[in-house]
Amino acid sequence: MPPSHDYYDELGVKKDASEDEIKKAYRALAFKYHPDKNPGDSEAEEKFKAATEAFEVLSDAEKRGRYDQFGAAGVGAGPQGFGPTDFDMNDALRTFMNAFGGDRAFDELFGGGRMRGARGGRPAPRKGADIRVRLKLTLEEIAEGVKKKIKVSRLVRCGECGGSGAKPGTSAKTCADCRGTGQIVSQQSMGIFGAFQSVAPCPKCAGSGEVIEERCAKCNGRGLTRGSETVEVNVPPGVTSGNYIPIEGGGNAGLRGGPNGHLIVVIDELPHKLFERHADDILLELPVSIDVATLGGQVEIPTLNGKARLKIPAGTPSGKILRMRGKGILRLRGRGAGDELVHVVVWVPRRPTSEEKDLLKKFGKLTSGKVPGPTKPS
Ligand SMILES: [Zn+2]
Ligand SMILES: [Zn+2]
Repeated sequence: MPPSHDYYDELGVKKDASEDEIKKAYRALAFKYHPDKNPGDSEAEEKFKAATEAFEVLSDAEKRGRYDQFGAAGVGAGPQGFGPTDFDMNDALRTFMNAFGGDRAFDELFGGGRMRGARGGRPAPRKGADIRVRLKLTLEEIAEGVKKKIKVSRLVRCGECGGSGAKPGTSAKTCADCRGTGQIVSQQSMGIFGAFQSVAPCPKCAGSGEVIEERCAKCNGRGLTRGSETVEVNVPPGVTSGNYIPIEGGGNAGLRGGPNGHLIVVIDELPHKLFERHADDILLELPVSIDVATLGGQVEIPTLNGKARLKIPAGTPSGKILRMRGKGILRLRGRGAGDELVHVVVWVPRRPTSEEKDLLKKFGKLTSGKVPGPTKPS
């Protein structure tokens, strides 16, 4: 048994609400929870149905009067009642369309630009689904930006029938059962509320309003085929994992003349074998011998575009970070590039030869007393 309904509560209106107030309250809820705005969201679906059912009753003076008289108990589940199983999504969508008018509602839901076929209860063209693909990029590619070709498998308009689904040379006929509306209207008894019209998609044409007598052999009447396409993606420098590049119209083809979905290229940064990325900077660890750290010198280091010479100043302590300006990643926003940060680590031989030992002992004697004492880390 479903919980008893409070239709006033469901619409958020008072018991003495006017017709206008009821319609206004329903309008706000219906546009918020409409399934076309919340695809695949079953919670929104339930809310849309509940609000519509409440509106169906409260917007009709006679039904409302009976509901007020009988109360919630009078309209619970059961063969005569308005239980949730009786009032399904098709009923709800029909009530919604009747209340707000097909074309206008369509415009409002999809932000204008009414599409061909949305008139007169004809099934609307449907936008194709978006396709998401991941694009793996190396840090080198990210540093300067890159053009990449990616292969995308997508639904395209059938080249054989031009998307009609009918065998070339033939055409789809208007469905005789629904006279092209795609819908079958039937009277349904609502018990104490009397009869009301119920509308369901036409079973003969599956709601398309057209019947294909001879199907296109290539797409089997769907009008779409799966194709593989190579798409060039222009990746700007400085992107990071999770950034995405939308390619308008690069998704699946639409149905019944609807527009294509979009191709959404999601960036996936591959880890680098040497560099660690910190925003637009790259970090490298560089072991340096004791003599170079002490006396200074030149070393060759890797960068994102080839090798470079780096000057190690005399007296460079272990842990010092040397900055190579502009050797990092080009900035996605703003000008210039980040830096390459070289973290100097003084290398200590693990197994010195006897000659090295002798020299180090001598060095130790010469520097004894010069090593500073312990300090607080800075
Ligand atoms: Zn075809
Ligand atoms: Zn039909």
